[in-house]
Amino acid sequence: MKNPLFDTLFAPHAAKETPFLYLPDGEVITHGAFLARAAQLAHALRGLGVHAGDRVAVQVAKCPDMLALYAACAQMGAVFLPLNTAYTAAELSYFVKDSGAALLVGDPARDVELRVVAQASGAAFATLDNRGGSLSKAADAQPRSFDTVERHEENLAAFLYTSGTTGRSKGAMLTQKNLISNAVTLAELWEFTREDVLLHALPIFHTHGLFVATNVMLVSGGAMVFLPKLDVEQLIEWMPRATAMMGVPTFYTRLLDDARLDGDLTANMRLFISGSAPLLADTHLTFEARTGHKILERYGMTETNMNTSNPYQGERRAGTVGLPLPDVALRIADAHGNELPRGETGVVEVRGPNVFLGYWNMPQKTEEEMRPDGWFITGDLGVQDADGYVTIVGRGKDLIISGGYNIYPKELEELLDAQNGVLESAVIGVPHSDLGEVPLAVLVARAGERIDLEVVKTAVGTALARFKQPREYRIVEALPRNTMGKVQKAALRAEFGV
Ligand code: ATP
Ligand code: MG
Repeated sequence: MKNPLFDTLFAPHAAKETPFLYLPDGEVITHGAFLARAAQLAHALRGLGVHAGDRVAVQVAKCPDMLALYAACAQMGAVFLPLNTAYTAAELSYFVKDSGAALLVGDPARDVELRVVAQASGAAFATLDNRGGSLSKAADAQPRSFDTVERHEENLAAFLYTSGTTGRSKGAMLTQKNLISNAVTLAELWEFTREDVLLHALPIFHTHGLFVATNVMLVSGGAMVFLPKLDVEQLIEWMPRATAMMGVPTFYTRLLDDARLDGDLTANMRLFISGSAPLLADTHLTFEARTGHKILERYGMTETNMNTSNPYQGERRAGTVGLPLPDVALRIADAHGNELPRGETGVVEVRGPNVFLGYWNMPQKTEEEMRPDGWFITGDLGVQDADGYVTIVGRGKDLIISGGYNIYPKELEELLDAQNGVLESAVIGVPHSDLGEVPLAVLVARAGERIDLEVVKTAVGTALARFKQPREYRIVEALPRNTMGKVQKAALRAEFGV
């Protein structure tokens, strides 16, 4: 293969008249038209001085051209570097500088401030959005085919910055092989075919919407309903024409809040997938009771793409993230990388063709998290049962150590969530002079309900050993979450920690 990523995901679709993207306004973009647009964009990138191996930083609202830019980068061998659309100019300048991007593509509405960001790092600058922009204009005049640049599967395909949940975002260097292996494995495991139509309402600057969703659909040849963002009205409108959906847990809780969600609405759907943050077992079970569908939960991260998945054919266990993928080795280990017996909680480590090359510009961090024999220390804590199903217990960084005892916030959160009036909860460790740290519980009440803290405390007192019981409780309106629905414990610690 001349360029494995392009030749696997994109080239097979050239000139096909089959639908690839259904847009909310009724427009349909065929596979062939999408690839022709990618070729035009590749020419335009070249015109801006971009060469194979260069990083192309892109902060653009989700639109078909942004996705075509990913294909264009693959075709010309550039490294695609999508960035969260919420980042301010100041945040963006860190990423553009850190990555050494050759080009920044930004929103035309922010032309002036973003141009300054690009110039300060010596990067070229162009704009793109749904309606146009300078890159789009430059592409319009270009030929609709492009000579694919030769690449190797070990070459970099993308830089993806992690979500920044536990600290500053890290640039994960992903090779062509990382992306291809995972896409092929998942498409097969989840039985995607060209008949599938995926409801796509995730952002495409994150691994979930970009690599899991888009690459799987490209491998299988199916289509996507390409929605700009999570909007329950649109999900409900399109669901009868779709066969599958990938979402973060918020998608499911928001759908459950709508009385129109039922077995009739989801009759054409064959698969609902959840990931990026823990799906409560309760959400899984309620969704099943309402629709008859068992949500398939999987687990992954920016650095590795996907690692585990509940089976498509076999038993999908609520509250678990399923089994290691066929080509991914997974172990639950102690701090030294020694595998622990089944049933014991430890650090999740993974190894396989999905594991990234390392963190850009952070050799020390890479060394800390990647063992010399290729095992990647995910930083997540988990436990594997006798059948191999993995349950994520939380993040190592969120583990609370109180008087030498480990407290897993998730155990407390599950108990708190089950109390009357509690919608959801988060438990964090706060400093304590004697014990080092003690748990603090942050609770959110169900709409129109009241939480009786005395009742909650009594229930906790009966269920948990004294050392695990929260020392303090706070009731808040909502938990701080990022765009991927992840609870920002660092923000909670900053607010309540001292
Ligand atoms: P940072 O690494 O910058 O702190 P982040 O880890 O949130 O941010 P991502 O790579 O987007 O950045 O997220 C990966 C993490 O998301 C995993 O390490 C895990 O903690 C969590 N995660 C993903 N899927 C699941 C799941 N199904 N259940 C529980 N946690 C999940
Ligand atoms: Mg992480």
